[in-house]
Amino acid sequence: MLAANFDFLEPETLDEALDALFENDGAIPIAGGTDLIRDIDLGKKKPTLVVSLARIGELQGIRVEAGEMIIGPLTTMSAIAKSSEVKTRLAALKEAASRMGTPQVRNRATFGGNLCNARPAADTAPPAIVAGGIMELIGKDRSKTVPSHKFFLGPGKTVMRSSDLLRAIRFPRLPPNTGTAFVTMTNRKSAEITVTSVTARITLESLDGKIKDASLCLGAVGPVPLTAPKAVSQLIGKSPGPETFKKAAIAAIEDSKPIDDFRGTSQFRKWLVQSLTMRALRSAFERARGGEF
Ligand SMILES: Cc1cc2nc3c(=O)[nH]c(=O)nc-3n(C[C@H](O)[C@H](O)[C@H](O)COP(=O)(O)OP(=O)(O)OC[C@H]3O[C@@H](n4cnc5c(N)ncnc54)[C@H](O)[C@@H]3O)c2cc1C
Repeated sequence: MLAANFDFLEPETLDEALDALFENDGAIPIAGGTDLIRDIDLGKKKPTLVVSLARIGELQGIRVEAGEMIIGPLTTMSAIAKSSEVKTRLAALKEAASRMGTPQVRNRATFGGNLCNARPAADTAPPAIVAGGIMELIGKDRSKTVPSHKFFLGPGKTVMRSSDLLRAIRFPRLPPNTGTAFVTMTNRKSAEITVTSVTARITLESLDGKIKDASLCLGAVGPVPLTAPKAVSQLIGKSPGPETFKKAAIAAIEDSKPIDDFRGTSQFRKWLVQSLTMRALRSAFERARGGEF
């Protein structure tokens, strides 16, 4: 039972929300509440004021402007999973959103909440990183943009100050002949946090050409979602196929920094990194060649 020892505010504009966060020590924003309410209940977070973002229209929805896909932080996992724009431009994000939690969780859980909570296992962070997502941050006295791979500092820590809000996540259009894929392993099919995930992006020189560019991001095998430079160096300029993917998958083990916990040992997670990297690269490659999603 939640002990509600805090005040609650539901502003209708971004400025009102920013004022409230700036002027009140101990104020925390809430989006869908699927992480925050539990953290308050467990005593991990002790806000004096909870500022709901739910009524702020400009933080909602998916739109395309000047070629970029812009996703508001209040967009739910269900909305992302159903979006044809996301499916076409960033299949990996659709896959991550589609499998998260249960239908009830997906109807409340937001993209912004998943990113700002900064869990190493947050499923939507790796797709944002491989696609070069740009985080738009806003505070009362400043606004700035941060590349998504620089947003996360550690478990529960981001570059945001406590009075800042994530305003939008912008995705530049990916080049032609590009495919992305997200694959994960959990202990159950749903309602369980990821044990390890791998997200891949591959861009081909042409439909039957070499790998022109690639990106990999490993989830839940380090304090933040990890890019995988050693694995990527095995891909760029190479012919796509099982041999190349296997070399990259073995190198990805070196890029990972897993720990032992009750969900899996570090050894098991390293094995998963190799196996999931193979699968993610295969799917991303098929999509880069125009394969059906
Ligand atoms: C049963 C269950 C299963 C789950 N399964 C998964 C899973 O498979 N994969 C996974 O990744 N997660 C999972 N989760 C975790 C959770 O649902 C997600 O992290 C969710 O996306 C968080 O979004 P929210 O809107 O509920 O965030 P909230 O709980 O409202 O907020 C989370 C944090 O982000 C901050 N915040 C929210 N929006 C903003 C903003 N715009 N600017 C600044 N700060 C902000 C809040 O202050 C808070 O600290 C699961 C949760 C449950 C309960």
